[in-house]
Amino acid sequence: MDTWAKLVVVLLVGLSPGILYVLVLLVAAYVEWRRPCPACSARGFRMVTAIRACGRRGSSSWAYYYCRQCDHRLKRQNGNWMQPTEKEWAFHCAKVLR
Ligand SMILES: [Zn+2]
Repeated sequence: MDTWAKLVVVLLVGLSPGILYVLVLLVAAYVEWRRPCPACSARGFRMVTAIRACGRRGSSSWAYYYCRQCDHRLKRQNGNWMQPTEKEWAFHCAKVLR
């Protein structure tokens, strides 16, 4: 193996975790983008914000989703979809969605 080939191999091996990481991010972004809205099944459904809370009783996390097509709002917590209250939507999402 000549020096250039060695260099290329070293670069590929050295960069592969970085390349994999970028690929995973791209796939995750694509899956997120393709997620259909449960109400109107449009592709404009997206995560607005994700919350992670830690307290004495352990930690909890949830996320808010919004559909641009039908104005549908949803909250996902522990794998369950639920309707967020107007108050929490205003608190968590109003400043993100503008
Ligand atoms: Zn929708």
